[in-house]
Amino acid sequence: MLIILRQDCTNEQCTEVEEAVVRLGYKPLPVPGENRTAICITGNKGPVDPGPLIRLPGVLECITVTKPYKLVSREVHPENTVVRVGGVEIGGTKPVVIAGPCSVETEARTLAIAEAAKAAGATMFRAGAFKPRTSPYSFQGLGKEALVTLGRVREQFGLPIVSEVLDSESVEPMQDYVDVLQVGTRNMQNFSLLKKLGGVRKPILLKRGLAATFEEWLMAAEYLLAGGNEEVILCERGVRTFNDHARNTLDLNVVPLVRRVSHLPIVVDPSHGVGTRERVRPMARAALAAGAQGLLIESHTDPGMSYTDAAQTVSTNTLADIVRDMDVLSGLEPLH
Ligand code: PEP
Ligand code: MN
Repeated sequence: MLIILRQDCTNEQCTEVEEAVVRLGYKPLPVPGENRTAICITGNKGPVDPGPLIRLPGVLECITVTKPYKLVSREVHPENTVVRVGGVEIGGTKPVVIAGPCSVETEARTLAIAEAAKAAGATMFRAGAFKPRTSPYSFQGLGKEALVTLGRVREQFGLPIVSEVLDSESVEPMQDYVDVLQVGTRNMQNFSLLKKLGGVRKPILLKRGLAATFEEWLMAAEYLLAGGNEEVILCERGVRTFNDHARNTLDLNVVPLVRRVSHLPIVVDPSHGVGTRERVRPMARAALAAGAQGLLIESHTDPGMSYTDAAQTVSTNTLADIVRDMDVLSGLEPLH
């Protein structure tokens, strides 16, 4: 908070304000200006109540400067957060590639996709066991059986597993099979789920809500950190706009913004962001060039046969091309 003093504020009144700040348990930092002085409040862990300060004779106004998403902000945590899972670092020096089908399929097929994804250079495997579908008649995921398959993928190929946690009830069954719990776009503001996940000892990949502002997204992350879970990875996956030429509008603006205002790692999911497989690789390049610390790519050995999201699923050959692009682009000097 910034306390703006009146132009005619006397030295005594200024001291009175500083003493009031100290009494509240904070540290006053006077910032002298050309016409008037401001006092910056530092050392507060949460929002400051302006009530006792605004009433003091020398005070003109109190301005809140600290972002509402305090714990996710660099203001309180200047160093980058690096999430470590099964030997992979997210937010470290090298971008990660989280690849795999939209949904877990038969065990044989899922293992074959995982093998091909690993050979293509994927560092983590993704696939949904519980699917959030627009229609209740559409394939809902293979549930528990899919979790067992994901466990086999991890066992055979050593790839850490990312999978969507659809509701509070699935947190427990996922514990033994999944390394990173994905909160899908439709659940970004499911506050009871976020509260539950704040108490879970597993990293969370938090997708941006399909119509969420930047601030709403970071506030959703704040729920996780406020609950005690600091291992949060942000994921931009496109938002709804008036555009009808793509499934969503991949908003790469947020990449340098997140890297500037937050210490949390950010990955980009161009698959859901474009909805068409031909455009996944160009937008993956763009995401990396913008500073994404990883990519989430829906990929399959036979994309057209994917149980879900076939139109946006790339082949594992294209995945290998994306990994090659990444090696070129990750050498770029960061600009945020
Ligand atoms: C997915 O990753 O398959 C998925 C359903 O993602 P989103 O929540 O971004 O739609
Ligand atoms: Mn999908």
